[in-house]
Order: sequence, then structure tokens, then C-alpha cells
Amino acid sequence: MRQRIRVDPIACKAHGVCAELFPERIRLDDWGYPIVDPRGVTPDLMKLARLAVAECPRTALHLADVDDPAARPKPEDPPDDLALVSPPPGGA
Ligand code: SF4
Repeated sequence: MRQRIRVDPIACKAHGVCAELFPERIRLDDWGYPIVDPRGVTPDLMKLARLAVAECPRTALHLADVDDPAARPKPEDPPDDLALVSPPPGGA
């Protein structure tokens, strides 16, 4: 089952550790809060994803199944987050 990174925006306090450990899927906004690439974590990146989740000092980072509705991008996610969505194979 493919997974993606989710951030609990209430728990997150912008430490930025996650972006340092997992820049392949996480970057920081101007205030230091994570912007997560909504694409799933590929198997070759899973070790880094798990490390970022384990090292978050606020336990604000989680791995969730892509098929889990809670793991899908939400309308309230930052626009930059949605801009990282790749079109599905074969076009939109
Ligand atoms: S490491 Fe945790 S608390 Fe810090 S920015 Fe990332 S998700 Fe937020």
C-alpha cells in the first residue's frame, strides 16, 4: 500500500527538522512550516520518510495510506501543496 506524508498543522511548531531529513517530499514555507508534496512516498524513499516521522519533535508528521481519505490533500492545504500534484498517467 502506497503511503504519503501528512502533517498535523496543530501539533507542528515549524522546527523544520522534517524538511532537512526528507527534502525529497518536504520543503518549508516562508514561516518554516512544512509544505508536503502530496505524491505518495515511493519505496526507495520510505526509509527517509520514516526517519522524518520518527524525528519530528512534535510528533506532527505521519505516514498515511494514499487511499485513506484522511491522507488526501484537503482544500485547506496551501496552494503550493496542490501545485506539486502531478497529472495522472495518460493525462488529466
Ligand atoms: S519537524 Fe515536525 S514540528 Fe518541525 S516543521 Fe516538521 S512537522 Fe512541523
